[in-house]
Amino acid sequence: DVAIMMNAGLALDMPYLDQTGAEGVGLFRTELQFLIGSQLPSVASQEALYREALDLANGKPVIFRTADIGGDKTAPYMDHGNEVNPAMGWRGLRMAVDRPGMIRPQLRALLSAAAGRTLYVMFPFVTLPTEIDDIRALLDREIDRAKRRDKELPEAIKVGAMIETPASAWRADLIAEKVDFLSVGGNDLAQFFFAADRDSERVQRRYDPMNGGFLNFLKNTVEKVSRTGTPLSYCGEQTADPVTAAALIGVGVRLFSLPAAFVGPFRRMVRTLDA
Ligand code: PEP
Ligand code: MG
Repeated sequence: DVAIMMNAGLALDMPYLDQTGAEGVGLFRTELQFLIGSQLPSVASQEALYREALDLANGKPVIFRTADIGGDKTAPYMDHGNEVNPAMGWRGLRMAVDRPGMIRPQLRALLSAAAGRTLYVMFPFVTLPTEIDDIRALLDREIDRAKRRDKELPEAIKVGAMIETPASAWRADLIAEKVDFLSVGGNDLAQFFFAADRDSERVQRRYDPMNGGFLNFLKNTVEKVSRTGTPLSYCGEQTADPVTAAALIGVGVRLFSLPAAFVGPFRRMVRTLDA
């Protein structure tokens, strides 16, 4: 069985959940809210967006990916320094654990938006298993803070990690043991596997998710993770191409999250496929 979830990033995306029949939001890119404004969004406005997304999902799960700023997504009010290779620089979970000033309010907003419901929170751009310990410590601090203030907490909290670097894919089993679920961010993972910029037209030919080496690498990752029992999804946008999506099913992926527009063609492909 193949399960289909949807990628989103704005409240406006949420009606597609019903239109596509997706089982939930497998990737909610929270940084969009950070990128459209001229300043850091307040805790209240973050919380309002997350609550709205949960309300509009009507009981279906929404997996919030904490802000992955840096790399191809830069915010005007943030100093990213002068990195020669920002895609490999200070971004995602790295920024969160090194300077928690931005992640702590975000976790606070997520915890209160999901009060009484299940919170699914997923961390981007993991490289090392120890980074999961660091972020869990920060999350625990926010949970304690909420408790001290008698705030209502989520009924359950599920923590996920994104596998988007070869280092994390190679040790995905160790990361799997520290989280409740994993999601392969194939857009970034392929970029670093091939050392080919995901946005550069000149190297597009070298960024080929159908390449045997890449598929074999994914298969190895999926197998390692499946031995741990931790669920794994694939949220990279290579699923735009039904043939590539079929190959991903071939290497063992059974849970996908894709842009709403890809869901129909993907489902038609799945119906005709003998895995
Ligand atoms: C990815 O890298 O595959 C991913 C889903 O995250 P983003 O495209 O936002 O980097
Ligand atoms: Mg990514």
